[in-house]
Order: sequence, then C-alpha cells, then structure tokens
Amino acid sequence: MHLNPYGEGAVHLAAELANRRPGTAQELEDRCRAAGLVVEGPVLPTDLTRILALLDSWESVVDAADERERAERLNRMLAADAAHPRLTDHTGGWHLHYRDDHQPFAAVLSTLIAVGTAFHLVGRGMHRLGRCAVAECTTVFADTTRTGRRRYCSQRCANRDAVRRHRRAARPASGPALA
Ligand SMILES: [Zn+2]
Ligand SMILES: [Zn+2]
Repeated sequence: MHLNPYGEGAVHLAAELANRRPGTAQELEDRCRAAGLVVEGPVLPTDLTRILALLDSWESVVDAADERERAERLNRMLAADAAHPRLTDHTGGWHLHYRDDHQPFAAVLSTLIAVGTAFHLVGRGMHRLGRCAVAECTTVFADTTRTGRRRYCSQRCANRDAVRRHRRAARPASGPALA
C-alpha cells in the first residue's frame, strides 16, 4: 500500500484494526496484507504490542473534543512515528516514505497510520473521523463519503436508528392522559 494523497487506505486500515483488535502477530500481518500493505520483514509479538498501543492513541485522535485537540494529538503521533520524507524507488516507481529504511514492522505501520490520517484530515476535512451515532455502537469510521456527513458505521446501524426515530415519532406526545 502506498499512501495516496488522501491517505484513504491507511485511515480505513486504522479504523478496521481499532474496531476489531488483532489477537496475534500473525493475524495483524494477515489483515495488513489483505488491506494491500507490502509486509517486508517478520511481524513479531513486540510489533503487535506496539500497534495495540498505537491504536489507543489513534482512537484518542478520533475522540478529540475539537479540531485543535485532534490536531495536537495527531501531531504527537507524527512526532513519534514519522521521519523526514524521502524519495524511494524500492518497488519500481518513485514515491515518498515518511520513515527511515529497514524499520521493524510496527514502525512502518505506525508511520503509515499517522501520516495517512494526517493526509485524510487535511485533505478531506478535520471532522472526518467519528464514532457511529447509534448510542450503544462504538464503532469508529473514517468518513470518505462525497458529502462528508457520515453518521453511522454501517447501513445496519443507520436502519436501526431510523426505525427507532420512527417509533419515537409515532408514540403519542407526553401530556395529560385522555383516558
Ligand atoms: Zn514504499
Ligand atoms: Zn454502528
């Protein structure tokens, strides 16, 4: 996976891993490969530990109270996980890396998530990370819709909330009972 200018693949991978935390290093590797990431070195239990901590930080970016807090929290992640950008053609085509060469897997993935999330927010809008509007659903999403007004993690949750609102509207208004 190369970072595209909107960081889309990276930010969706972060949300996917945050919502369903990988239980083993092997699972982390498999799911990153499935998302299109080129995994060069071994993925070790120490990588998993680092990534689970990184996902906690990433969720705190999602849950920031406002744009400035969101920016500050992500800036801390960038300071910890990104190096100066450099041009590389290790896969044939020239592209940018925001990390040093020969890093352990956790460092590569951390950089991808931090930089990809930064691209996503500045490219599409600082508000485009959130949690599902259904109260008991805590699923995180990155909003890459055209309108940028996504409120639910899934169609299922959107339907569930619509049914609930409908029922609420159909219920007689509270007031003095007629009977
Ligand atoms: Zn590369
Ligand atoms: Zn939901």
